[in-house]
Amino acid sequence: MRTYYCGEVRQQQIGETLTFWGWVDRRRDHGGVIFLDLRDRTGIIQIVSDPQRTPDSYEHAEALRNEYVVKVTGRVSQRPEESLNPKLPTGEVEVYAESIELLNAVRKQLPFQVSTADVETVREDLRLKYRYLDLRRDRMSKNLQLRHQVVKAMRRYLEDQQGFIEVETPILTRSTPEGARDYLVPSRVNPSQWYALPQSPQLFKQLLMVSGLDRYYQIARCFRDEDLRADRQPEFTQLDMEMSFLSQEEIIQLNEELVAYIFKTVKGIDLPTPFPRLTYAQAMERYGSDKPDTRFGLELVNVSQLFKDSGFKVFSGAVKAGGVVKVLPIPGGNSAISNVRIKPGGDLFKEATDAGAKGVAYVRVKAGGEIDTIGAIKDNLSDAQKQELLELTAAEDGHLLLFGAGPTEVVNKTLDRLRLVIGKELGLIDNTKNNLLWVTQFPMFEWNADEKRLEALHHPFTAPYPEDLHDLKTARAQAYDLVFNGYEIGGGSLRIYQQEIQQQVFEAIGLSPEEASNKFGFLLEAFEYGAPPHGGIAYGLDRLVMLLAGEESIRDVIAFPKTQQASCLLTDAPAAVDAKQLKELHVASTYKPKT
Ligand code: ASP
Repeated sequence: MRTYYCGEVRQQQIGETLTFWGWVDRRRDHGGVIFLDLRDRTGIIQIVSDPQRTPDSYEHAEALRNEYVVKVTGRVSQRPEESLNPKLPTGEVEVYAESIELLNAVRKQLPFQVSTADVETVREDLRLKYRYLDLRRDRMSKNLQLRHQVVKAMRRYLEDQQGFIEVETPILTRSTPEGARDYLVPSRVNPSQWYALPQSPQLFKQLLMVSGLDRYYQIARCFRDEDLRADRQPEFTQLDMEMSFLSQEEIIQLNEELVAYIFKTVKGIDLPTPFPRLTYAQAMERYGSDKPDTRFGLELVNVSQLFKDSGFKVFSGAVKAGGVVKVLPIPGGNSAISNVRIKPGGDLFKEATDAGAKGVAYVRVKAGGEIDTIGAIKDNLSDAQKQELLELTAAEDGHLLLFGAGPTEVVNKTLDRLRLVIGKELGLIDNTKNNLLWVTQFPMFEWNADEKRLEALHHPFTAPYPEDLHDLKTARAQAYDLVFNGYEIGGGSLRIYQQEIQQQVFEAIGLSPEEASNKFGFLLEAFEYGAPPHGGIAYGLDRLVMLLAGEESIRDVIAFPKTQQASCLLTDAPAAVDAKQLKELHVASTYKPKT
């Protein structure tokens, strides 16, 4: 019987004879004395064997190699002074092995040394191919355990304190309205018909509210066939929730308690509630982003008024065309950031042009408020205007002012990127901070320039503010995102439950009644049988755990993730299938490899 895991033994157990099961993390032969680091998911315990004190185990100990699986029984003793290891929780004790039983050896050469392997030193494709070895490592094992703790905390709070019920919703279903590309599954028994994998359980959770379930949650797998970026996966996990009869305020409050509970239970961190809030408009104005990292300042300043009639045509033209001129003021930026970096060819210039800007204008503020710039801006500013610029931006000696001028979205996107890069570079981000922030009052729609139509920013079931109904196109949505240190970790909304409003929204996004009924007819019909007011939210579990674990990639908190090419290197999925299978599915490939 196992009474302790390897990582759990402390001085209190000295004198006890215990049995451990695990893997040999490392074996060291110190001239006649063999030391084994024995590992299981909790950590490491030092096992000692020598011919004098433990003659029965010595021979077996000699034969062990890294990653062999063994059972060890022995007495726990105090480590001698010179071999105390303060870095290990078990570093004060060791176990004299009375017996060592080899349960299984390693038969192939290990692709990497598990014990010393580091995320940084082993190629990620190797780690993914031999994921089961990768997951033996302390860091990865801890990540999975942390993930489990987070889910457990979610369940405890929602079930035990708030009366939520977990319900599973279908994986084989119809297209859901999150706006990404669907994964499709052909139906064998319904030739030429397809299931879509859910992009989220959105429609089902709303139906569950019509059913009177009142409070639903699910740790839900979602599928979106998107081009992958560093923190995206084709399948990912959400904490998905939906509630009836609660106001937006009540939903927000319940969710603050949930998040505070998770941080407290999992990390021991007390988050002050209520969390700060910004409206979407405020967030965009001050940070150029709807998920601002508020751990540092460097806020943007809108100087459109100052430049709207200026002789500097790039600026005045931008404002006249309906755009903006904004400044990113950087204290100490004069010495920290050289001209070369801002001019064509420089890294900050590239950052800006990647965001869609044509370039970056800048001004350096010198002693006495003297400003130094390459011609155009200075030449076109009167002394009074210069003074106003300094006041608006609170600029003093040493300030660098970076300008964005043009369409609002481009300017915001550009200065947001520059702000993040520079904030990081100048060490302005306080990593001990845990900043939670609600962003509220999103616009209902955004303009899809490719399709020349409005598009629901959240999804088409999000309710507008009642007072904005007179002009739906510019209406604000009763939607809210939760932002953690500059990452969106959750988002949701109150839903439309009145048919007339739903019709108007479909109309606004150019969805005809036929199309709407074809796509979501079952939901719209359900709403005719007594739908309660309801709303919900979903959290990206992978991202939340990534942030809590201090990792930089969600792949490091997912047991078996996919690569950027959406493939699984362990199982080699996706893969070709038998012609017979395709035939049964009535599917033929049109793919022609390029020659
Ligand atoms: N279904 C939404 C999403 O997946 C969340 C929600 O509105 O509850 O982003």
